[in-house]
Amino acid sequence: MPWQLPRDAAVPRVFFGDFDPTHPFHSPVASSPLDPPSFATSLRSSGIGIVSARLLNGEAIAKDIRKDIAAEIRGRALRGHQPPRLAVILVGDNPASKLYVRLKRRDCERVGMTCDVRELPETITEAELAGMVIELNRNAKVDGILIQLPLPRHISANNVVQLMDPKKDVDGVSPSSIGLLALREPGYRCCTPKGVMTLLASTGESLLGKDACVIGASNHVGRPMGLELLQVGCTVTTAHKYSRDARAHASRADILVSATGIAGLVTKDWVKPGAIVVDVGIEQQRDGRIRGDVEFEEVAKVASWITPVPGGVGPMTRVSVLENVMDSVINRDA
Ligand code: NAD
Repeated sequence: MPWQLPRDAAVPRVFFGDFDPTHPFHSPVASSPLDPPSFATSLRSSGIGIVSARLLNGEAIAKDIRKDIAAEIRGRALRGHQPPRLAVILVGDNPASKLYVRLKRRDCERVGMTCDVRELPETITEAELAGMVIELNRNAKVDGILIQLPLPRHISANNVVQLMDPKKDVDGVSPSSIGLLALREPGYRCCTPKGVMTLLASTGESLLGKDACVIGASNHVGRPMGLELLQVGCTVTTAHKYSRDARAHASRADILVSATGIAGLVTKDWVKPGAIVVDVGIEQQRDGRIRGDVEFEEVAKVASWITPVPGGVGPMTRVSVLENVMDSVINRDA
């Protein structure tokens, strides 16, 4: 039996069932605790030409969520609880992975969580890594485990991720977590799609019945992203590298989420006027700059809302990890 959160558990950030018209994602008016106008920073004021889109400012939204989490942790400390503890496994010297882990540790420190990073050499065997995961599963002081991907080629990420105790899979990437999402059962939600849903909720737009297109179909981004959008009542199309005409699908979408890692793939003619455009992609340029999938300046002229890169989805992915750790703690105490 896969582990499941009890249906009546006090886990406000996990939602279940079919389309709930009272859920903030479905409300035509912003009923999210996040106040959308404060994120609707005018791009005009940032000096980016004539635009119509409002900015989905992931940095600002994540900061507000961190504030709430920090307050929750301080309150728990007053009641005698230890700080929540996240264990992060980092294998090898991949510079991007090292950077992501540094940022995750910083986020934990900002809210008062303990972040225990286990740095392991590239040469570690799958069996040794499996042993560490099992040890962390058994360690009652650890509330959440995150295995920083990708792993070296000689290790099967699937094999290792499957060993994680589903109650501690705060990245939401295990077969159990993805399966629960597919079945619309409560569980830890995969962090990047979860972060995107929080961004979409912050617009205050109703998502029910909207046409959504996800470009990219990976296990931890594109696929769960499609499931999340389906969950809130969107009609979802997933385009990928074998799609005959990804642009045609994208240009019909009210909500377009691009997650390919191909810088500049999504130009103005891929976007329906007034669409909400979320750019998950990250591609590091030779000069060190980060670019997303979306040609920001031209797409901002036709979209209604748009995420910047950096500062859009990245901070939301990381804050979703913190939310999931809190859910783990609250669920354990329930
Ligand atoms: P991936 O390589 O596993 O998947 C890429 C997907 O894009 C595949 O499904 C592929 O079919 C599709 N694709 C490739 N070329 C395409 C094309 N021309 N047209 C349509 N689809 C195409 O990558 P991933 O792990 O899913 O990550 C995607 C991007 O998102 C990367 O840039 C990654 O760095 C970034 N990412 C960002 C965050 C964040 O927090 N911002 C989190 C995870 C991933």
